[in-house]
Amino acid sequence: MTEPLVKWSYKGDKGPHYWGHICEEYEIANTGKNQSPVDIHMEKVMEVHEALPLELNYKQTKYTVRRVENSVHLFPQNKEQGLIFNGKHYNLIAFHGHIPSEHTLNEQYFAIEWHLVHMNEEGERLVLAVWMDQELSGSDFGELATIFPQVFEDFGIEMEISLDVSGFLPEKRAYFKYQGSLTTPPTFEGVTWIVLREATSIAHEDFTAFQDIIQDTNRPLQELGDRSIHHSA
Ligand SMILES: [Zn+2]
Repeated sequence: MTEPLVKWSYKGDKGPHYWGHICEEYEIANTGKNQSPVDIHMEKVMEVHEALPLELNYKQTKYTVRRVENSVHLFPQNKEQGLIFNGKHYNLIAFHGHIPSEHTLNEQYFAIEWHLVHMNEEGERLVLAVWMDQELSGSDFGELATIFPQVFEDFGIEMEISLDVSGFLPEKRAYFKYQGSLTTPPTFEGVTWIVLREATSIAHEDFTAFQDIIQDTNRPLQELGDRSIHHSA
């Protein structure tokens, strides 16, 4: 029913290997040199002792939840929250998850990776990535897990949920930072990536509910090339 509206996919002839050929706008997926995700290899990351300051300021707010292409995205109804990175304010504009993780740590995947997509006044994008492991008991995302299958049914369905994304975040704020791209078409570059080093956990039951909808929504790893990854030790 919803298939004709999906311009790209994670498998088949619209899968990641072919994204760059679907239309002109998507060409950067094949030609770009700063694509995401990447493997974060500890032997290659640069320790930065005076790391750029990162301040996360999220609060309880209402989100509109709807299907976007091959996933489910949440859009905050109030844009007055976000983060300050290196003195610049970024507002949270949307978030969503990928199963398994897109970025890897020493080539190891995590169960799920959430992307908190931000933008500043100049239109620059910053994505905060949060890894989660699957545990028998973990943070409770039950209500959101219930909504996912309902909105995924049809592009016309919208639902609302009130939550605080702080509940997704680890206590420690150590992070990896590099310059990359969006991981879905059009994979625009110029995106600042901040990947939190510490993984949090998600309860097995909730994970399974998300997995039913967004399993295998991770783009394959891209070449790091000349780029460097900084680590705020
Ligand atoms: Zn994403």
